[in-house]
Amino acid sequence: MPESYDLTVIGAGPGGYVAAIRAAQLGMNVCIIEKDRPGGICLNWGCIPTKALLESAHLLEKIHSAKEFGIDSNGAKPDFPTIIQRSRKVADQMASGVDFLLNKNKIVRKKGTAAFKDLNTIWLPDTSKEEIVSKYFIIATGARARELPGLPFDGKTVLSSKSAMVLEKIPDSLLIVGAGAIGVEFADFYATMGTKVTLVEMLDQILPVEDKEVSTFLEKSFVKRGIRVLTGVGVSNPELKDGKVKVLLKGKNLPETGEILEVEKILVSIGLVPNTDSMNLEEIGIFLQKGFIKTDTKYKTSVPHIYAIGDCNGPPLLAHVASMEGIKAAEAISIHSGNPHGLSYFPLNYDAIPACTYCHPEVASIGLTEKKATNMGYTIGVGKFPFTASGRARAMGDVGGFTKVVVDKKSGEILGAHMIGPGVTELLPAVALGITQELTANDIASTIFAHPTLSETVMESFAAALGEAINL
Ligand SMILES: Cc1cc2nc3c(=O)[nH]c(=O)nc-3n(C[C@H](O)[C@H](O)[C@H](O)COP(=O)(O)OP(=O)(O)OC[C@H]3O[C@@H](n4cnc5c(N)ncnc54)[C@H](O)[C@@H]3O)c2cc1C
Repeated sequence: MPESYDLTVIGAGPGGYVAAIRAAQLGMNVCIIEKDRPGGICLNWGCIPTKALLESAHLLEKIHSAKEFGIDSNGAKPDFPTIIQRSRKVADQMASGVDFLLNKNKIVRKKGTAAFKDLNTIWLPDTSKEEIVSKYFIIATGARARELPGLPFDGKTVLSSKSAMVLEKIPDSLLIVGAGAIGVEFADFYATMGTKVTLVEMLDQILPVEDKEVSTFLEKSFVKRGIRVLTGVGVSNPELKDGKVKVLLKGKNLPETGEILEVEKILVSIGLVPNTDSMNLEEIGIFLQKGFIKTDTKYKTSVPHIYAIGDCNGPPLLAHVASMEGIKAAEAISIHSGNPHGLSYFPLNYDAIPACTYCHPEVASIGLTEKKATNMGYTIGVGKFPFTASGRARAMGDVGGFTKVVVDKKSGEILGAHMIGPGVTELLPAVALGITQELTANDIASTIFAHPTLSETVMESFAAALGEAINL
């Protein structure tokens, strides 16, 4: 007889493991199936190991500027294998944390690649062939890196983000195709390691989804650090030869015939492909759109007892979105199954999703840009506060960048925030809280922020939007 559960979750990334724990908290008997290590891309090959690498890079940059702080530190250079080892160790520690949490919540775990056998049965065709029956399912299988046509990943010369974070030595030269958050973070890391980095973006700005002023500031700061940044440029005709790669670059500010670029390695970060193949999804009636699983606002698929969360159901492809969708799906299932636990369901606000890029300077944003808000008919107030005017940033010797907020002039509603500079990824939650709790610009401007902190720039930005900034 197959084992039977209230809920089976497929994939133990930040979507799946969080959904499983929330469901267990709500009294469900839960099984989770993972083909690899718990923690998914985020903990093993995404958010966490990249931040560990960037921390090493940031420390090295700091040491290079130590003299300015009155500290004598000559000849600091990266010990690359140790940097990689440390990043792997940090990922391992986080993945073991997920192991602990799943055990603590008494979630039954199965290892293998799951596929649907029928509407209520999952099986593991590649390994134990075991069958699992469940009343509800949550698919949380994530996504993987997209290849450049004609240039499959080989882990040596043609890199995905995964292979780029475990190289054995620092490459002399690296072409990064795609300047979204992943491309930009690797550009920062390898440039600091001493690699000659070329960052190419097809659209007309790096971090294309960010506020134009923020992206332009970042581009200038990258160029100053020796990174070659090409926007409005396409990459074609890839050729692998003698362990190197040659491509044709064509577009803005390049000769009409293009430029041939030869590099030691190419990192392709042009987007993701959902992990929704080989699971018999369409065969059992689950509707896909461009490979992503289509769901309603409760994460229910076209099959009513099967839910889908995280990267596999489409953008925004972010760990915190996957986790919150996991919580919401577990709660929706609990309500649907007649055990509401006093919960009432309200859908997530996708207009208030924080997004951060952990390059140096850091980038953080939420909500509407000035342009979008104006296009939507708002009469906007914009408040901006530069880190040059922040006492804390001055003391840190890190004054590049600004915090900027967009508010509705009539009601004071907080519409968005766009930041670049030291620690901004830690400043963003103040605005996220403001938007979620429907605070006004005045609510934040009249809150006491401790002095001297970087967070004062957020308060000052809101004051500036109201025409009441003191320190500008
Ligand atoms: C280099 C990089 C850096 C990133 N940095 C950030 C960041 O700083 N902040 C941020 O918010 N996001 C970041 N992301 C994105 C983030 O990692 C993803 O949004 C997040 O991991 C999605 O979570 P998920 O649970 O949907 O999927 P995943 O984390 O991909 O987990 C899916 C899990 O399902 C398993 N699985 C797949 N198919 C099956 C199957 N058939 N059977 C059993 N198991 C299966 C996989 O092995 C995997 O463990 C980054 C991504 C990358 C690649």
